[in-house]
Amino acid sequence: MLTPAPELLLRLPKSELHVHLDGSLRPGTLLALAHERDVELPARSAADLADHMLVSDASSLEEYLQRFEVTLAVMQDADALERIAYELAEDHAAENVLYVEVRFCPALNTAKGLASSEAVEATLRGLARAKQDLGIQSGVIVCALRSHAPSRSLEMADLAVGYAPHGVCGFDLAGAEAGNPVADHIASFERASRAGVPITIHAGEGYGAESIRQAVEVGHARRIGHGTRLHEDRALMELIAARGIPLETCLTSNVQTRVVTSHGDHPARLYLDEGLTVCLGTDNRLMSGVTLTQEYEHARDELDLTWKELVAVARAGFEHAFVDPATRVELLRRFDQDVAAIES
Ligand SMILES: [Zn+2]
Repeated sequence: MLTPAPELLLRLPKSELHVHLDGSLRPGTLLALAHERDVELPARSAADLADHMLVSDASSLEEYLQRFEVTLAVMQDADALERIAYELAEDHAAENVLYVEVRFCPALNTAKGLASSEAVEATLRGLARAKQDLGIQSGVIVCALRSHAPSRSLEMADLAVGYAPHGVCGFDLAGAEAGNPVADHIASFERASRAGVPITIHAGEGYGAESIRQAVEVGHARRIGHGTRLHEDRALMELIAARGIPLETCLTSNVQTRVVTSHGDHPARLYLDEGLTVCLGTDNRLMSGVTLTQEYEHARDELDLTWKELVAVARAGFEHAFVDPATRVELLRRFDQDVAAIES
């Protein structure tokens, strides 16, 4: 079974560890929410909107991030957030994702008076409803932003710690990487780490390997968001491999932000060959115009991953999920059982 057919990748049980809530709205929902809230959009039909939001012309991560102003304009109330979270889980469930970690920065949902805690609660409600209706398990990762003041990051860390017993599973640092080092936000990582909230950090996407080193050495990162430029520092690559720190790899997004020139050029192949752990994520289903299954197809078609390698990548998504040990055992049991059924 060396070249798995597309339907096998759809059937493959998957875990999504890197997807942004504000980058993954359905175009039709973005349109409907804008209409209800009297928000002006850059396009009038769902198809034109999908086209506009798909980033094909960014020259950097910073340009890519500008699209988020459009989605955030309709994400300023609890009803919108609950709906978007529910639908995101529903879209994942439809492609056999058993577990999804949804990330966002609640400080960006407060422009019209919503409290950041209310933003978290609304998102958790949407995900809980999806679990009840569809069985998909989930968690929320609270993001702090690199470009924000350290005091705001600390507020986000407090939020993550406060909601950890209620469905927040992790803490992240996202946003413009160049010029905004992890070291600026050290207090927030200390806060999350001391409280036992697992940390993942976007690094090595808009900046070089030094950023990844900081994420691990100063930021207590258990996982690295992207880590694309890790290969620039061989010693660090060996350290990350030895520590078993996984990379949350988002192939299409990295092509869009010009970290790599093409899917086939992505170092994920090298990382697997070097014994690193790679998990696949979409980053932003709307801005990247991809599903998780399609990212697995890219890995198969352009990085030549075999079925066995694709299964290992999918399994890593459960092995490194921010869940309690009992949930991990149960998710892995289900994963192994479903893969055995596909292979029989
Ligand atoms: Zn991301």
